[in-house]
Amino acid sequence: MMSTPSNHSDAELGEAGILTWLREEDSARLEELWAFADGVRQAHVGDEVHLRGLVEISNHCIRDCGYCGLRSDNRGIARYRMTGEEILDCAADAVRYGYGTVVMQAGEDYGIDADWLAGIIRRIKADTPLAVTLSLGERPIEDLKAWREAGADRYLLRFETSDRVLYRTIHPDARGQVSDRFSILAQLRRLGYEIGSGVMVGIPGQCYESLAQDIHTFRALDLDMIGVGPYIGHPETPLGRGDWSRPRVDGEQVPNTELMTYKVLALTRMVCPEANIPSTTALATLNRAEGRELGLARGANVVMPNITPLRYRRLYEIYPAKACIDETSPANHTGMAAWLEAIGRKPGRGRGGRTHDGSRT
Ligand code: SAH
Repeated sequence: MMSTPSNHSDAELGEAGILTWLREEDSARLEELWAFADGVRQAHVGDEVHLRGLVEISNHCIRDCGYCGLRSDNRGIARYRMTGEEILDCAADAVRYGYGTVVMQAGEDYGIDADWLAGIIRRIKADTPLAVTLSLGERPIEDLKAWREAGADRYLLRFETSDRVLYRTIHPDARGQVSDRFSILAQLRRLGYEIGSGVMVGIPGQCYESLAQDIHTFRALDLDMIGVGPYIGHPETPLGRGDWSRPRVDGEQVPNTELMTYKVLALTRMVCPEANIPSTTALATLNRAEGRELGLARGANVVMPNITPLRYRRLYEIYPAKACIDETSPANHTGMAAWLEAIGRKPGRGRGGRTHDGSRT
C-alpha cells in the first residue's frame, strides 16, 4: 500500500502496476492515487504553477490526422495565419499577464516560413524575458535548427499513441515521408530543446495495454514536458464520425473519460516526478467547472491559458467546444494569481523550465 512518496518503489509501477491502476475503479483506492501523485508533485516540483500563454498562430495544416478538426480534408473551416505583428502583440500580452512562456502552436503549416518565424522568435527573445515553446508539427530538421538558433527553448510534439499500428491508421504519412515522431523528438533533444510529448486518452482503438505502454514510454524518453488529455470526437473527422477502419484491437477499449484522464495524469506524475505537466484544456472541456483545478490536484503543475485573439481562437477547432481559461474558471488572465492562491498554489516565477533533481544532468 502506498502512503508517502518515499515508500514508492519502481517495482510497484512497472507496466503491470500501471495497468492495475488504470483499471482501478474503487474510489477509496483512487483517492490514494490522487494523494500519492499530489505528494510526488509537491516533493519534486513544488507548489508553483507555471503559466504558459498559448498562441494558436495558424490553423492551416497539410496533414489528414483522423482525430483532428484542422485536418486539410476539412473544408468547413475558414483558415487563418497570424501576422508577425499580431504574434508579437500576444507575446506582449503574455508579459503583461505575468506569464513566463509563450507557446506558439499551429497545424503543420509550411506557409509558416522557417526564416520568417526565426525572425519573430529573435524579436520575442530580444524584447521580452519569455521562454519560447513551439508546437508546429513534424517540420524538417533544418527548420527546427533555425528556430533553436533563433532562441526557441522548447518543442512539443505528442507521439499520440505508442501503438505503432494504431498510430499509422490515425496519423497518415504526409509529404511522402513516414511519420516518426520518436526520431524527431530525438533530433530536438540533440538540438538542445527541452522536449515535450504526450498522448490522447481514449482514442478509438486504444487498449489498456497500449495506454500503460504510453506511460512507460514517457519515462523511457525522459521527457521534460508531458501533455495528456482526453480524446474528444470532432464530427468533421473520420474518427469522430466513426467511418474509418480501425486495426483489430485485442484488448478492451479505453474510455475517453475525465476519470481515466486523471488516472493517466496521476500515473504520469509518479513515473516522471520532475516533468512539467499541464492540466490541459481538453480536460477542462470535459469539466468546465473543476477540470483544471482537479488536474492540478492530481499531478499537474502547469496551466496554458489561451491568449490567441478571439477572432482566431474560435477557428482553431482541433475538437469541438474547446474550453478557454476566461470562461472555465473564476480566473481571467489578470485573476490567475488570485485563483491559484485560492486553490492553495502559487504562480510560477521565471520561465518554469524543467528542474533536475538528479536523474539527468
Ligand atoms: N500540429 C501540431 C499541433 C497539434 S494540436 C502537432 O501535430 O503536433 C496539439 C494536440 O492536440 C495534438 O498533438 C493532439 O494530441 C491533440 N488533439 C488533436 N485533436 C484532438 C481531439 N480530437 N481530441 C483531443 N485532443 C486532440
